[in-house]
Amino acid sequence: MSKQMGAHTGELTFTGQGVAAGVVVGPAVVFLPDENSTPPERRLTPPEIPGEQHALRGAVARARAELDALTIAVARSAGQQEAGIFQAQSLMLADPDLSGRAEARIATEAVDAITAMQRTSAEQAAMLHALSDPLLQARAADVLDVAARVVRLLGAGGDLRAMIARSPAPPIIIATTLTPSETAQLDPDAVAGLCLALGGTTSHAAILAKALGLPAIVGVGDGILQAIAPGDLVALDVAANQAIVRPSPDHLVALRTRAEERRQERDRARTLARQWRSVTGATRDGWRVLVAANIASVGDALAAARDWGAEAIGLLRTEFLFGGRPDLPDEDEQAEIYARIFASFTDSARPAAPIVARTLDAGADKPLPALRDIVSKEENPALGYRGLRIHLDHPDLLRAQVRAMIRAAGATHTPLQIMFPMVATVEEARAARAIVREEQQRLRDAGRAVPDPLPIGIMVETPAAVFMAEALAREVDFMSIGTNDLTQYVMASDRLNAQVAPLADPLQPAVLQAIRRVARAGQIAGRPVAVCGEMAGMPALGALLVGLGITELSMSAPLIPAMKEALASASYVALRSWTDTLLALPTLEETRALLAQGIPVG
Ligand code: PEP
Ligand code: MG
Repeated sequence: MSKQMGAHTGELTFTGQGVAAGVVVGPAVVFLPDENSTPPERRLTPPEIPGEQHALRGAVARARAELDALTIAVARSAGQQEAGIFQAQSLMLADPDLSGRAEARIATEAVDAITAMQRTSAEQAAMLHALSDPLLQARAADVLDVAARVVRLLGAGGDLRAMIARSPAPPIIIATTLTPSETAQLDPDAVAGLCLALGGTTSHAAILAKALGLPAIVGVGDGILQAIAPGDLVALDVAANQAIVRPSPDHLVALRTRAEERRQERDRARTLARQWRSVTGATRDGWRVLVAANIASVGDALAAARDWGAEAIGLLRTEFLFGGRPDLPDEDEQAEIYARIFASFTDSARPAAPIVARTLDAGADKPLPALRDIVSKEENPALGYRGLRIHLDHPDLLRAQVRAMIRAAGATHTPLQIMFPMVATVEEARAARAIVREEQQRLRDAGRAVPDPLPIGIMVETPAAVFMAEALAREVDFMSIGTNDLTQYVMASDRLNAQVAPLADPLQPAVLQAIRRVARAGQIAGRPVAVCGEMAGMPALGALLVGLGITELSMSAPLIPAMKEALASASYVALRSWTDTLLALPTLEETRALLAQGIPVG
């Protein structure tokens, strides 16, 4: 499809789903892999066949090398889960089903390597598409993606990178869809944004754009491809889920102002981060508070230590490492994944910064395809089979995960702490702790490096754990309150249901009473109590938690500098009496009103 500059006029707005935040403006690069750029089929004479097969083998080897390099680069920048896509693609090329058949086809049909590869991959993709398993169906797109890579290396196809390089300013890429490899290769410094006609927020392209921090709108519909010409100005307003083609002069001024405000906000956040990066968390009067990060990938671990000054990892959500996989990785592969995450953090963080790794918290709002044979459809998944409950029924899974964590910590000299999610009874805490201690001993007996001490803790997320907090505190070395789940269970209000959002508020007096009870239980038993739910990342609420006796706050890493700043302006003595006043208030409204007056500075 050819598009002429200036062929279209007037502002048009397309609505889709926003992926990574931002307002960006740039010239359009319209990327339509052009069928005409693939050379026509070439019939071969018998003597030409070995040379063509050799060319195909060379392109396959180069494609594998590219994919292996991409796997490592993406694992570093975006995380293991995202990198898994390219690792799997590299393995596809090693499988004779694709490249072997294409090579054979060159001889049997006497056609060139590009035609042979395209026909073979189209057949395979059609076969996968026809299967009923959605995971296998999704692999059809990967087969076409790897084949396109080989075909490009054989000298065909449009070149997105060259188009970006020719753009006079960082462009907005407009395409029907992008393959995972095309998306992962986008450089966020050279590209302003991405707008795709197809796809949802959980498509591979969307997940990778988010991990790259690239503002993107997906699923705007095919109309945009008809309405736009290369070079036209496009703005993406991600918060409004809008792509604006050829914005009017007034609209453009407003969008550019907002884009500039966003840029300044990011700059301010970076300046604040530099200022607070090496400062330890404490109130103005010297009350120490550990300010830690919640992470879910290698990229998060690195940024938490290097960019945001996390003093520890307070929560490693391990279930996010395996989200897209059909099966759980075995112990060795898990050990490798954890070691990479631990090393990313400990290499940049201060020595002996602890990492709290949570055992698999799957189920309910975090379904895991790898557990499809264990977790069946439930009437009330949030009250059903999730977190530690699954692990205690399938202790081999827990043992493999715990061994992998301990081995990774031993290999990277990481002060590991292990934490269990969704604990409701003392028996559960005891059973899980016993498994960790057994595996720790077994690994030690086998001569492996084992972290010592290895503190064991629980998440307090259920009302049962709140009521039993004193007894639970005596069983473990630390506790961490998961206020996201605790709020939904205390208030009987689904954390995903917008209609009950005002009830599912961690500032509800009932939730604050629960937190105070757990903090006191920790003090009585001499065990530290952290909070790792979302409320821990909001400065005023973090200060309130400190006043309630919480000694560690764990949050999304970019929130750390502002939290350290807020704590440093507050007085612990004043916070204590402020929280006493707050907790005497019987309603959410009164609690909010008092909080709105600001944190006491003493
Ligand atoms: C929580 O429930 O507060 C928590 C930190 O765990 P998650 O959000 O992963 O359920
Ligand atoms: Mg939780």
